[in-house]
Amino acid sequence: MMDAQGPVVSVIHKRTHQRLEPNLVDYERTVAEFDWTKAARLLDGLPGGAGLNVAYEAVDRHLNHGRGDRTALRWLGREGQRREFSYTDLARVTNQFANALEGLNVAAGERVFVLLGRLPELYVAVLGALKARCVVTPLFSAFGPEPIATRAEIGDARVLVTTPELYKRKVQGLRPRLPGLRHVILVGQAQQDEPGVSAWSELVDTASPEYTIAPTDPETMSLLHFTSGTTGRPKGAMHVHAAVLAHLVTGRYALDLHDDDVFWCTADPGWVTGTSYGIIAPLVCGVTNVVLEAEFDAQTWYGILERERVNVWYTAPTAIRMMMKLGAEAVKGFDLSALRFMASVGEPLNPEAVVWGQEAFGMPIHDNWWQTETGGIMISNFAALDIKPGSMGRPLPGIGAAIVERDGADLRFIAEPMVDGELALKTPWPSMMRGYLHEDERYRKCFVDGWYLTGDLARRDADGYYWFVGRADDVIKSSGHLIGPFEVESALMEHPAVAEAGVIGIPDAMAGEVVKAFVALKPGREPDEALRRELLGHARQRLGAAVAPKQIEFRSNLPKTRSGKIMRRLLKARELGLPEGDLSTLESDEK
Ligand code: ATP
Ligand code: MG
Repeated sequence: MMDAQGPVVSVIHKRTHQRLEPNLVDYERTVAEFDWTKAARLLDGLPGGAGLNVAYEAVDRHLNHGRGDRTALRWLGREGQRREFSYTDLARVTNQFANALEGLNVAAGERVFVLLGRLPELYVAVLGALKARCVVTPLFSAFGPEPIATRAEIGDARVLVTTPELYKRKVQGLRPRLPGLRHVILVGQAQQDEPGVSAWSELVDTASPEYTIAPTDPETMSLLHFTSGTTGRPKGAMHVHAAVLAHLVTGRYALDLHDDDVFWCTADPGWVTGTSYGIIAPLVCGVTNVVLEAEFDAQTWYGILERERVNVWYTAPTAIRMMMKLGAEAVKGFDLSALRFMASVGEPLNPEAVVWGQEAFGMPIHDNWWQTETGGIMISNFAALDIKPGSMGRPLPGIGAAIVERDGADLRFIAEPMVDGELALKTPWPSMMRGYLHEDERYRKCFVDGWYLTGDLARRDADGYYWFVGRADDVIKSSGHLIGPFEVESALMEHPAVAEAGVIGIPDAMAGEVVKAFVALKPGREPDEALRRELLGHARQRLGAAVAPKQIEFRSNLPKTRSGKIMRRLLKARELGLPEGDLSTLESDEK
C-alpha cells in the first residue's frame, strides 16, 4: 500500500552467510566500476579469435579449464529415470547434433524449431544447433497444432526436432502448410518412411563427435524467442550470440551461481526463462543444471530440492502461489539444508510470498524482473542487498534503468521517488533483442533517445529499489487515479482465504473505470456472500475506497499463459463480451 512517504514495507536484511560473488558484496561499488568490455574477459571466445559462440562458452569452454568431468546436465525423468551428462559428454553430443545438421545440408542462419518436453535431447538440440550457427526456436510441447503452425510459418522453420508421438498428433497434418520445413528429426527410435523425416538414433547418435565451430560473429542471430502472449499476439524477439555475456554476468550476480553449485530452474524452455536460465546461464556459469521432466507437484519438488542437494533455485510466482496454497507445513520434514538462494521471475511476486519463503524455506524469495526482449535479468533482489518484499530490486551492474514518461518524440525523466512512469532501460547491453521478427516498426517504437521502453509501469523509491505497478495495458483509470492491478492483487493475497487474484478495470459511467477482482480460493474455502463481503472490506481497509475493488467474482482458477502469467486481457475481454484475441499461449482456464 502506498502513502505519501512511499510504500509501507518491511525490510528483510541480507543474510551474511550467502556465498556472494566477491565483487558484488558491495553493490554500489560494483555498479560504479562495472564495464561490459572488461566483463567480456570472463569468456574464452572461439579458438584462434574466431568470434563468440554461445554453445562454445556454455559447454566446450569448461573443458579448457579442467571442468570437463563435472556434471553439466542432470536429467530427472518422469518415471524416476536419471541421466547425467558431464561437460565433456555434452560437448560430444552437441557436436554430433551439429554434424547431423550439416549432414542434412542445413545452413547457418536457418531455423531449427524444437518441440519437445523437457528431455535431454531438447538441451542437446538447442546447443548443437547453436554450434552450427542455426537459429533456434523452442516451442512449448503442449502447444496445439495452430500455435505450432503460425510460429513455424512466421519463423520459417527449416528443421523440427520433436517426438514421434507429438509429430503424429500435431505436426504431420500441418506439413502442406509448411513447405519450408524440410527436415523432421524424431527423438528415439522412429519407424518413419516419410521423406524428410529421420530418427535421432540413426541421424545423431551415429554422427561424429568431433566438430569445429565455424567463425561466429557475436552479432549472429542465435535464438528467436516468442513472448508469452500475455498482452496480445506473441512477438518473435531475435537474439544474438553476444547475449551469452549477459547470461554469465546475471547468472553470477543475480542468481549467485558458483561453479560447484547445483542449480534448478523450473521453467520450460518454451518460455525464455527456460532457455536463458534453464540452459545458457547455468552452463556458462559451469554449474550442475537439474532438469525435471515432470510438471509441478509440491511433494516431488521438495523431494528434488532435498535429494539433489539443490543450492540455487529459480522458479515463478505461479508455482510459489501453488506451494503457498498447500502451506509451509508441507515443506517441513524435507532436509533443504543445501538450499542457499531462491529467486522468482515472470510476474510480480506479492510481498506475502516473499515473506512466506522465510517461513517455509528459511529464506526470502528474491524477485527479479526481465522480459523476453531483454534476454536476461535486468533488475534483481541481489543476495548482497536487503530485500524489500514487493520490490523487484535494483538494476544489474551494467544496466541503466529509469522511470520515464513519453512526451511525443521525447522522454521526460521522472526523478522524484515513488512516482509512476514507464520503466526504461539504457541501451545497449549484450542480451538485448536485435529486433522483432517481421515487425520493424513495432521494434523501432520501443526506443526513444537510446532508451528502451519496456511497456511496464513502475516506480523507484529513494533507496533506488524498483516497484512494479502493472503493464501499461493493464493499468486502470478510476476517478482520476491510476491503479496498478498488482497493488490490488497483493492486498487481496494477504487475506488467508485467497490463493490467487486477477484484477481488471471495467467501464463505469461515473468513475470512467472501476476495479473488478477475480479471486481463486485456497483449498477448503468455499465462496459465499459473507466471504465476498469480507474480502471487499479487507481490500477497502488496505487500499482505500478509491483503489479497492468494487466487485469480486470467485473462480476456481484464473486464465494463465503457459509461462504461468495471469491473462488479465482475457478476463477483461470476457467480462466485456469482446473478442478473446490470440489464445495460442493460454494454458489453464475456466470460463
Ligand atoms: P507479451 O509481451 O506477449 O504480452 P509477456 O510480456 O508476458 O507477454 P514475457 O517476456 O515472458 O512476455 O514477460 C515479460 C513481462 O513479465 C514483463 O514485461 C513484466 O510485465 C512481467 N514480469 C516479469 N518479471 C516480473 C517481475 N519480477 N515483476 C513484475 N512483472 C514481471
Ligand atoms: Mg511483453
